[in-house]
Amino acid sequence: MEYSLIDGKATAAAIKAEIKQQVEAIVAAGGKRPHLAAVLVGHDGGSETYVNNKVRACAECGFESTLIRFEADVTEEELLACVDRLNRDASVDGFIVQLPLPRHIAEQKVIEAIDYRKDVDGFHPINVGRMAIGLPAFVSATPKGILTLLQRYGVQTSGKKCVILGRSNIVGKPMAQLMMQKEGGDATVTVCHSHSPQLKDECRQADIIIAAIGRPDFVTADMVKPGAVIIDVGTTRVPDATRKSGFRLNGDVKFDEVAPLCTAITPVPGGVGPMTICMLMQNTLAAGRHEYYD
Ligand code: NAP
Repeated sequence: MEYSLIDGKATAAAIKAEIKQQVEAIVAAGGKRPHLAAVLVGHDGGSETYVNNKVRACAECGFESTLIRFEADVTEEELLACVDRLNRDASVDGFIVQLPLPRHIAEQKVIEAIDYRKDVDGFHPINVGRMAIGLPAFVSATPKGILTLLQRYGVQTSGKKCVILGRSNIVGKPMAQLMMQKEGGDATVTVCHSHSPQLKDECRQADIIIAAIGRPDFVTADMVKPGAVIIDVGTTRVPDATRKSGFRLNGDVKFDEVAPLCTAITPVPGGVGPMTICMLMQNTLAAGRHEYYD
């Protein structure tokens, strides 16, 4: 089957260009340039890369950005004091605290300390709850990016059977909410996790599979209905001696054998990843414009 590649990199570039135009229009009209702050704790390679990419994306969108760094031994109290400062800093429209945090810091406590009106990651319970009942809210960037990709590629989701693999708070659960909502995907949604005994059977019946489990090459050809649309969220670092870095990013889908069965599929890298950062930019623009909250 001739499949189409869902190009997240190109779509993200187009959306970032649209954001930049809107920012310049705001500034030209005498408004404030949106300002995103990012807090990075420690020196985890993955987190460093993500945060650097976010700072770079801010520049592409014409945003102001601030990076605040702490060593891995920062205390919870110091980090919470920083969150409090950012909450009260009127020059900052939105901010993120890059996860994961070191084990001695309670992640949920930090998430809940963020003013929900500046919570551009969409992890605060107020945003999660508002999104779940269809109220305007900051929506977690990865699921928002996936829905945007499906819409921009004209994938019909209404009335389709969608299987989501994974039930994390940042991907699987919000993805399920967005895909089931009438004003969202309007699909019939099944969520599978590590205790789903019929996972393969569920996948075989799916028109759309969204894989977000972090298990390289987990979705194989025997799990895919011909003509399905596949979204691969997985980004696991696997050793690769042919790369300068010594690793490559591997998706949850065995691309080479699954792609020929599909009508459309996202690659890894270059699929969901770039859309995630792009949606963070969209959320920051919305924060700057007070689109959801006064
Ligand atoms: P997570 O918090 O580790 O959650 C993984 C989920 O997958 C859990 O619900 C787990 O089930 C389920 N799972 C694990 N192994 C399974 C198996 N063998 N069969 C069925 N279900 C299984 O992961 P996450 O944060 O959602 O991330 C998932 C993947 O997406 C990771 O590779 C991550 O790097 C990637 N990711 C990519 C982006 C991006 O922008 N591209 C953004 C976020 C995440 P239980 O609940 O039963 O444990």
